[in-house]
Amino acid sequence: MIDLVMLQCSNIQCNLRFPAPLDDYNVFCPLCGERLIVTQYVLDNGYAHFNKLRGFRLECVLDNIRSAYNVGSILRSANAFGLDQIYLCGVTPSPTQSKVRKTSLGSEKTLSWKSHPNALDLVHEKKELDYTIYSIEACPTAQSLLDIGLKFNSEKILFILGNEIYGIDPEIRICSDAVLQIPIWGQKKSLNVATSFSIAAFYFSQLSR
Ligand SMILES: [Zn+2]
Repeated sequence: MIDLVMLQCSNIQCNLRFPAPLDDYNVFCPLCGERLIVTQYVLDNGYAHFNKLRGFRLECVLDNIRSAYNVGSILRSANAFGLDQIYLCGVTPSPTQSKVRKTSLGSEKTLSWKSHPNALDLVHEKKELDYTIYSIEACPTAQSLLDIGLKFNSEKILFILGNEIYGIDPEIRICSDAVLQIPIWGQKKSLNVATSFSIAAFYFSQLSR
């Protein structure tokens, strides 16, 4: 619970509206200097509780991600979406680096993560263990992420995100069950790797509900 005030400028020409803490605000508008109209609120903005299916496993390989900030941000989202395992492969930095911890905000402490030197070997091991392997990659022949569903309730999914420049390892692409792209149609068809991760993790995690 956060107590707050909403402040609205009394000058109709200005019309600025913004929030402030209950115990610390100015009664004059920062833009035009007129008096602000103050209204108090109690905000209830926690998350509701959702359950996932038993037996469903969702794991991710981050293969040769360069940016420590992206990795930290991904670990934070991975924890939020309840991923069962994250593999940091190739040169992907781990939470032992302070740059990663800067954006992971401690989420590595309650998330299961492992470093692995070779993502291709790992993917082969996971295939032997009946994981469904999805490469997340934009390419003209890739299927839409939204076109796949859960094959059975106990499915184990491993999805892979690759290097910011070179994308997914070509050998991993070949041995994936499918290459999936996030359907987008803006002018600049590109997404940050951490954003792509969040969209894919959200979609996969909803499959298990
Ligand atoms: Zn104003």
